[in-house]
Parts: sequence; C-alpha cells; structure tokens
Amino acid sequence: MAGVFGGAAAAFLPRIAHRFAYPEPVCRDCGRDFPSGVSGWVHAGAACGCGGWIGPVLASAAVAALLAGLLGPVLSLPALLLAAVLGVLLAVIDLRCLRLPDPLVGGLAVIAGVPLALIEPARIGTAVAAGVLVGTGYLLVALLPGGGLGLGDVKLGAVLGLVLGFGGWPAVAVGFAAAHLINGVVAGWLLARGRAHGGRALPFGPALLVGALISMTFIGYA
Ligand SMILES: [Zn+2]
Repeated sequence: MAGVFGGAAAAFLPRIAHRFAYPEPVCRDCGRDFPSGVSGWVHAGAACGCGGWIGPVLASAAVAALLAGLLGPVLSLPALLLAAVLGVLLAVIDLRCLRLPDPLVGGLAVIAGVPLALIEPARIGTAVAAGVLVGTGYLLVALLPGGGLGLGDVKLGAVLGLVLGFGGWPAVAVGFAAAHLINGVVAGWLLARGRAHGGRALPFGPALLVGALISMTFIGYA
C-alpha cells in the first residue's frame, strides 16, 4: 500500500520538478508553454507531453515500500512517507539543475519535523542539536573556498540532521557517513569515466537524502 501511495503521489512530481527547476513557464525540451494557474503545476504524468515520468514514480514507490516494509506500522510512518515523496522531488530537481529550493526544504522540515516532535517529544533536544550541529558544520565547509557545498546543501543537511536526530545520535552519524560515502563513490566513478568537471559539478542533495533513508531503514527509527 505504501508503495502504491509513493508511486501515485510521485506521478505529480515531474511537472512540479520542472517548474521549480526552471523559472520560465515553458518546457525546456520542446518549447511548449505550460498552462497558467493550478494546472500549470498540478498534473499527473510527464512534465510535458514530450517528457518521461517513470523514473520518479518508480523511485518514490520503492522508497515508500522500503520505509513501510522495514519500519512497520509505526506512528511516524505517514509523515515519513510524505517526506519521502518530497525527498524524491528534491533529488530530481537537484540532479537537474543543482538547486534545492527553499520552500521544498522548509516543507520537508515541517512535514517530517512537526509530527516527529509530537510523537517523540523527549527527543526534540537531540534533534535540534543534530540539526544545528550539521547545519553549522556544513555552513563552515560551504564558506571555505572550493568547499564544494552549496547553501541548499547546508539547509537540507540541517533539516535531515533534525529528522535523523529523532532517531538518536547513531542514526545521525550513519546517515551522514553514508551520504559522504555515496558521494565519494559517485565522484570517483564519474572521475574514472572522465565526466567530472571542476568545482561543484556533482549534486550532493540526492546523496544526503539516500544516506538519511539508509539510516532510517537500517538503524531503526522512532
Ligand atoms: Zn515538452
């Protein structure tokens, strides 16, 4: 059921991802205008008649099924499933244009953080401390010349630190260690294939999100 929910919800992601990724209300691939108003944003299927939709739908269905299968029917599951769909949207946008839009990162904080705070009030201190710690650490790296992190990564890192903090410090440590490991492997693979460019050519958001997912599903979670 969770997989079906994840897939069905993600059918709406391609157009939203395209609209967040590019400022102009026009398809990047075929030049057609998107409709104005709500239907310019809310639309099931491909972003535009010329595009695909299967990738985000399969990814979201798989992530939702994995979360539900490994966490079981915990109280926080509905919030985490919604957060997972939003996470897939963020990953798609970051892969496309190296951006993590603030409204979506903020939405992730609210959708996951508020229910977790209500369910696990005793863990709020740890969660806030983890968010502040990761956010501060990543901000310092982002401010270094050639640090390789964007401010979007800093904000997403802080939000995921907060979310994983509700699972305790081991969940935080595993989530971010996994993210950096994944990022290192992908960077090495791209370098070996001669596709890496100087500077920040590699989006870090997807690695952060997958790291958080690995931590939640395998370390155990609230
Ligand atoms: Zn098109």
